[in-house]
Amino acid sequence: MDAFEYAAPQNLQDAVTLLAEASGEARPLAGGTDLIAQMKEKRRSPALVVDVKKISELNVLSYEAGLHIGAAVSCTQIAEFEPVRVHYPALAEACALIGSYQIQNRAALGGNFCNAAPSADAVPPAVSYGATLVIAGPGGQREIPSEDFFVGPGQTVLEKGEVLVEIVLPPPPPRSGASYLRFIPREEMDIAVAGVGSFVQLSPDARTCEQARLVLAAVAPTPVRAKEAEAFLTGKALDDTTIAQTGELASQAASPISDVRGSAAYRIELVKVLTRRTLGKALERARGEAS
Ligand SMILES: Cc1cc2nc3c(=O)[nH]c(=O)nc-3n(C[C@H](O)[C@H](O)[C@H](O)COP(=O)(O)OP(=O)(O)OC[C@H]3O[C@@H](n4cnc5c(N)ncnc54)[C@H](O)[C@@H]3O)c2cc1C
Repeated sequence: MDAFEYAAPQNLQDAVTLLAEASGEARPLAGGTDLIAQMKEKRRSPALVVDVKKISELNVLSYEAGLHIGAAVSCTQIAEFEPVRVHYPALAEACALIGSYQIQNRAALGGNFCNAAPSADAVPPAVSYGATLVIAGPGGQREIPSEDFFVGPGQTVLEKGEVLVEIVLPPPPPRSGASYLRFIPREEMDIAVAGVGSFVQLSPDARTCEQARLVLAAVAPTPVRAKEAEAFLTGKALDDTTIAQTGELASQAASPISDVRGSAAYRIELVKVLTRRTLGKALERARGEAS
């Protein structure tokens, strides 16, 4: 690891100023489970590391008019927070499958977003719930839809000096449910070969789909919404045939690579299966049939 300066500001403005005025590369540090490993391997060599864990705005975890998750809040805190377990179970489940207990105790949801790995597990459920990201920078604060955050592998829309402050999820609408599943060839401590997060809201008579969001992981340079599949599902009864057709359509939004963990064709098949399974679970939840 190359030598670097370390700062741990107590407030957001100081963090932004440090990052904005740094002469070389400067990077925020949350749990460090991605950044420290990357620095050890010299894949990143920031001259300045700005620890954001002492900043109060980044440690918020509250459920009032939606869910507010500070960007430095750990996956363990999120998965154990009662309103998340009750109202956003797909996010709780994703946070609880990242790495191991030790990793979850360190890893922040903000770090999962900002590392911008296509395989990030907590991103698809957050995006499927309609998350908005609050970003602070030298020019003030801005908000963007979470799905617009990613530019490519390891790249986000964050400009120099900008910090992700919080992830905000709207209150779940009535008759809605969500689910996230990934495929890994072993039980844990592996990167998703493919993942799918599904969200559905049913019509007032609960017969058809009023809205849907389907978010794919590890099958494109960034997490990606399967918008054609979502549009196909909207207004339809969620029977087995429709769900299977939705899986087929969702797979068309994938543009995977082949690597040691799976071929592109295998990943396409996984998207079909995971879409069917997550839609089934989301539907159960929307009908109040599942926890
Ligand atoms: C053994 C192991 C297993 C893992 N398993 C999984 C897994 O199963 N699923 C999965 O998705 N990931 C996994 N990961 C990756 C990692 O744990 C997650 O991506 C985690 O959420 C990163 O969060 P962090 O707080 O540690 O981020 P950090 O390492 O602190 O930061 C990650 C990146 O985000 C930037 N950053 C952090 N916070 C901010 C902010 N507020 N504003 C702007 N930029 C910021 C940093 O500069 C850095 O570039 C694993 C990692 C390890 C080491």
